[in-house]
Amino acid sequence: MPALRPIDADAARGKVTFARDTGFHAEVKRRVLAYFARTGLSERDSPRMYLKTAVLLLWFGVSYGLLVFAATTFWQGALLSSSLALAMAGIGFGIQHDANHGAYSSRAAVNRVMGLTLDMLGASSYLWRFKHNISHHTYTNLAGADDDINFMPFARLSPAQPRYRLHRLQQFYLWALYWFLFPKWNFVDDFKTLMRARISGQGFPRPRGASAVELVAGKAVFVAWAFVIPLLFHPWWVVLLFYGATSLLLGTTLAVVFMLAHCVEEADFPVAPSGAARLSRPWAVHQVETTVDFAGGNRLLTWYVGGLNFQIEHHLFPRISHVHYPRIAEIVRAACAEFGVRYAAHETFRGALASHWRWLRRMGNTLALAASV
Ligand SMILES: [Zn+2]
Repeated sequence: MPALRPIDADAARGKVTFARDTGFHAEVKRRVLAYFARTGLSERDSPRMYLKTAVLLLWFGVSYGLLVFAATTFWQGALLSSSLALAMAGIGFGIQHDANHGAYSSRAAVNRVMGLTLDMLGASSYLWRFKHNISHHTYTNLAGADDDINFMPFARLSPAQPRYRLHRLQQFYLWALYWFLFPKWNFVDDFKTLMRARISGQGFPRPRGASAVELVAGKAVFVAWAFVIPLLFHPWWVVLLFYGATSLLLGTTLAVVFMLAHCVEEADFPVAPSGAARLSRPWAVHQVETTVDFAGGNRLLTWYVGGLNFQIEHHLFPRISHVHYPRIAEIVRAACAEFGVRYAAHETFRGALASHWRWLRRMGNTLALAASV
């Protein structure tokens, strides 16, 4: 058996390749297209998405307005900042994610405008499209190539990452670090990424023209509503306190939904055989086996997390609106059973959370490397 090694940054520079499709990908695509042809439904531009957008933006606006202009007690502020954080996470899951994947509408301009909701929240949609659509969606769970599983040195999420002593307690302290995710994204990560013009070893073009204007204007709009306007009405420490409180719940919500799909015991973390950056599995099989669905029967949760509890379907069909994922899941699950592709799903949110906890504990306490594929 050849020695194992992680997919390192070198391999990530466009050199990681997947085996050819052996029929699964073509067949599952054929069946999903047949589903849309049969039902007459559109893959994008669902009226449900436009309604959802209105509800989420209204939720955001009302929470913010009441927090800044009406709240007079600490508890009112705490309640409203929680509501604001959940509305912001909802916009992240339910509007910008579809839009920046090109799954919101068949018209590029609509996707672009809806994608700007991420800039409104203080994170560049331009940079996110490279980080998420390429780094994470192509190289899912490959350490060194998937930027989303890189929490080093604070946490070891993949067996291919080195283990440090402090990781033995990561299942306890990682939650506290989610507090910093949002401020770090707002004020550090985007600027670092821009300066380096690289994400997990892969280069990308720096924004120019309209993209550069959107990036700068987005940051300015965010600073205006999150800091400048509140500072006109409240002391600085009150503004900071509620920015911190909102960031804590927002970061935790975003991180947990991501973690439950990719960093659980049932998700695979492949490593390439030594000397090769070619995985023996085809891309579509890799996507299914590195991803886990959860709480598919919970309609409220499905609505709120923008179908990201159906991440297997999202990874196979990122350009189809998330409102269709529950039905597509039935097609994907059946095809997986026929083609012998491992399809994993947790029945409940709690079950997925418990599995994430056990995965963190295992990664912090064992040195085991995943099996080669
Ligand atoms: Zn995505």
